[in-house]
Amino acid sequence: MKTIGILGGMSAASTQIYYRELCRLTAERLGGLHSPELLIRSVDFADIEALQAAAAWDSAGERLNGEAKALERGGADVLVLATNTMHKVAARMMDGVGIPLLHIADATASRIVAAGFRSPGLMATAFTMEQTFYTDRLAAAGLDVILPDADDRAETHRIIYEELCRQIVSDTSREAYVGIARRLVDRGADCLILGCTEVGMLLDQGNVSVPVFDTTLVHCEAAIALALS
Ligand code: GLU
Repeated sequence: MKTIGILGGMSAASTQIYYRELCRLTAERLGGLHSPELLIRSVDFADIEALQAAAAWDSAGERLNGEAKALERGGADVLVLATNTMHKVAARMMDGVGIPLLHIADATASRIVAAGFRSPGLMATAFTMEQTFYTDRLAAAGLDVILPDADDRAETHRIIYEELCRQIVSDTSREAYVGIARRLVDRGADCLILGCTEVGMLLDQGNVSVPVFDTTLVHCEAAIALALS
């Protein structure tokens, strides 16, 4: 079994989901007492969020590059960056790193394409929805991404940072997310990408009317498939 290096803490709320899912999937695949070989580097999200807010992406990339190198030195065979947003600096992060990065957008795009969908709605941070580093990658896979309107993007982003990244889960925000997802479906989304690793705390296949692709779960499944290949 290969060792998965998880660069997480962005936020800590979602890195806990990664750990739980990676353990669950390994037990499901191998049975018995099996559990995944992992290295988890969990950073202080307050530092990372300050860099995001200051648009200090070069510094953020440099910081993550140091962490990726440390995971490689520690024995990781493959890297999983446990946040969609910070894939903005994936290229800088991988500078001089010899092990592969399992890119969250590519893993998600290939699952959607394989399932035969074309027009995913995307709920994520404003960075992920409004900049091109992520949507370009989905478009390159042949997908026509549908974004929430400006008010819905702002609300999606606010709930991520003010609540989900702080482990706050409320019915009010769940209803707000259900409404945003419904409006994406009304505008033609044939499936929904939970494009932020915390969004699955509020949305899942039980409250969305189209197929849901939760990037956290897709990423974990792809990582286990690779680790056990
Ligand atoms: N975990 C989130 C994501 O998947 C947001 C937190 C962050 O900015 O890293 O984009």
